[in-house]
Amino acid sequence: MRLTLSLILLLLLAFSPAQSRSIKAGDIYGPEDTGFNSIGDANLTVSTIIEKANRNIGQTPEDPTIRFGDILVDDGLQNADRCTSRKPSCMWPRNSDGNTYIPYIISNQFRPKQKDLITSVLKTFEKSTCIRFKPRDREEDYIDVQSLEGCYSFVGRTGGGQTLSLNRRGCLHKKIIQHELLHALGFHHEQCRSDRDQHIRILYENIIPGEEHNFDKEDTNNLNTPYDYGSVMHYERDAFSRNGQPTMVPIPDQNVAVGRAEEMSANDILRIKKLYCTD
Ligand SMILES: [Zn+2]
Repeated sequence: MRLTLSLILLLLLAFSPAQSRSIKAGDIYGPEDTGFNSIGDANLTVSTIIEKANRNIGQTPEDPTIRFGDILVDDGLQNADRCTSRKPSCMWPRNSDGNTYIPYIISNQFRPKQKDLITSVLKTFEKSTCIRFKPRDREEDYIDVQSLEGCYSFVGRTGGGQTLSLNRRGCLHKKIIQHELLHALGFHHEQCRSDRDQHIRILYENIIPGEEHNFDKEDTNNLNTPYDYGSVMHYERDAFSRNGQPTMVPIPDQNVAVGRAEEMSANDILRIKKLYCTD
């Protein structure tokens, strides 16, 4: 009984928001937790890993509000990436040298090798885009990478320190880290694009009851880029399935691979360039 009570207390403490957009946790790993991704498997798809890692979120009122599987919701930001064209914008500002510098901090919950992995994935954005993640100095707005219960992020810049959770036991894969960072840059899931009905059919009869909202369409700015089944932002065809049957079927060719990306696709990179790196 006492154990249960202290566990609840610990959970309450761990998930009480300390600031408006930042979720703070204590040091939540124990001595038995030495490895990477014990609940994740590198061979699984982006959406399967996220579904597994996030399955316990939302069971207590203190948990963060998650929509679309892994998008952290704060009042007023539900409409995702249209916020990139609003004023004030949720985009990260461009520097006079043409690059966009995004400050970050990485929690000490991560072990050095895990930090190295996260940092190396941050660097992958530098090769092909103008995005430059940089350790925070004194900047007001920054990404606060923590190991909380699941993999999730806000969409776009929220102002202040904004939590991006990469659970140490489930989310430390290149594709997942890139996926969550793309949310923080302002991008939504591919299957939620405004034009998705021309490219996929949603089979609502196969969706877990109560999870239909994950397939809501968003009023997205598609930046004149093609719909991309291979985007690291696309969930796989049986995401949120209640019966193992597909929840999304491509149109017109039902056999096209869906949501199998191992890293950002050429279109994911093109979108970053169009949004951040060109006038
Ligand atoms: Zn996502």
